[in-house]
Amino acid sequence: KVRVRYAPSPTGYLHIGNTRTALFNWLFARHFGGEFIVRIEDTDMSRNVADGEASQFENLAWLGLDWDESPRNPGAYGPYRQSERQDIYKRYIQELLDRGLAYKSYKTSAELEAEREAQVAAKQAPHYVYEYEGMSEAEIADAQALAEAKGLPAVVRFRVPKEKMYAWEDLVKGHVEIGAEQIGGDWVIQKADGMPTYNFAVVIDDHLMEISHVLRGDEHVSNTPKQLMIYEAFGWETPVYGHMTLILNAETGKKLSKRDNNVIAFISQYRELGYLPEAMLNFIVLLGWSPVGEAEIFTKKQLIKMFDPERLSKSPAKFDNKKLAWVNNQWIKKIDSGVLFDKLVQELIKANLVQPAELTTEKLQWVRQVMQLHQDGISYTSQIVDLVRPVFFELTAKADLGADSMEWMEKDYVPDLLQQWVEKLNALEVFDAGQIVTSIRALQNETGVKGRDLWMPLRIAASRVNEGPNLGEVMELLGREQSLKNIKEFL
Ligand code: GLU
Repeated sequence: KVRVRYAPSPTGYLHIGNTRTALFNWLFARHFGGEFIVRIEDTDMSRNVADGEASQFENLAWLGLDWDESPRNPGAYGPYRQSERQDIYKRYIQELLDRGLAYKSYKTSAELEAEREAQVAAKQAPHYVYEYEGMSEAEIADAQALAEAKGLPAVVRFRVPKEKMYAWEDLVKGHVEIGAEQIGGDWVIQKADGMPTYNFAVVIDDHLMEISHVLRGDEHVSNTPKQLMIYEAFGWETPVYGHMTLILNAETGKKLSKRDNNVIAFISQYRELGYLPEAMLNFIVLLGWSPVGEAEIFTKKQLIKMFDPERLSKSPAKFDNKKLAWVNNQWIKKIDSGVLFDKLVQELIKANLVQPAELTTEKLQWVRQVMQLHQDGISYTSQIVDLVRPVFFELTAKADLGADSMEWMEKDYVPDLLQQWVEKLNALEVFDAGQIVTSIRALQNETGVKGRDLWMPLRIAASRVNEGPNLGEVMELLGREQSLKNIKEFL
């Protein structure tokens, strides 16, 4: 039975990197008809943030990644928070102590530090040196009793087997092997505060929760041999591992980081800006996995059907903002126009451009047309606000036009041009986009002014911005009265 888990530490919020991990585990479960479990790895109490766990669940739910078991809906394998499983870990640690596979270690941090410095000076890889080397059992017991009497804090270390190779067939990377000597000596399985370390707890949990496959980030490859040692010590069967490639920042070429300032890190921020959850999932699934064929826009349902772990990529994924904008723009065009329209109206309300109370059917129809004019240019819904604000909701004052626009308006021929245009606009029978554009063509014929010399002053006069969609359509929506008022201020 396929059982996979997403195991965040609530030391922060859901970000791009852990979303990818969650997404692939979820897809794996859904594709193979298995179960997707969320386990909270909160043993590092000092680093947990108060709403870290809540943020994980809220944002997973927003993305549509539903889970079968978690602290919020426990199944038969709970508890699902590591902080609530301490009794379980203690039992297994005691077992290893009793069997002589682990031992209490009293080296102080000062001693460990000195040891490390000496090793670095001697050009050795830093490693822990067994503190009871050559001692008999009785001598060890004496040394430990003495340390206890001195009140030294104890950690529990796992006795790493000598000269042993740890190997596994990785779903992504293929055959991987790491020698025990690369581990850096006997490692800590229980900290001085009694909490297990990650590499220990994760094995106990994955085993007891009957996890069949572990898909996680590349940064965990070096942890895997430690975890294999624990499985071996207990004689348990290991899950299948798959370590997904790094995500690189396309602009810097370096590993993507929550602190990169050209990339939005957290899912809640995308949500706030009005990215569509479908689009975010679609973009993230392409980070480290490639579908067969050329298509790149997929629904959740399609992804579940077509997901194939064989196609998880072996080379690093690139986080590219341009691609993100493109995928989102594709989804803006793809989703139901009614749903999109509702989201856009909400953005205008949030930005205080319209009040819900004033949205009569007629006004709503107008708002819809205004937004339709701009919607091709957006990749997330809050962008609509800046596009429609200046012309349709808060006209820029003449005095606030930028230098570029002012330069156009101060040209000698402009007042005459505008005067003639006003006459033509006044004479139009219907004030619609087609007629307005015809009036501009006529103006061109009569004055000989053309191209940008013609269009820029007209656009700036009528709409106060120097770029935008079709000028005729913009003016039709502004209406005759407002359009003429705008232009006349320049006469
Ligand atoms: N809590 C670990 C992390 O957030 C989970 C790693 C794992 O999947 O084993 O990186």
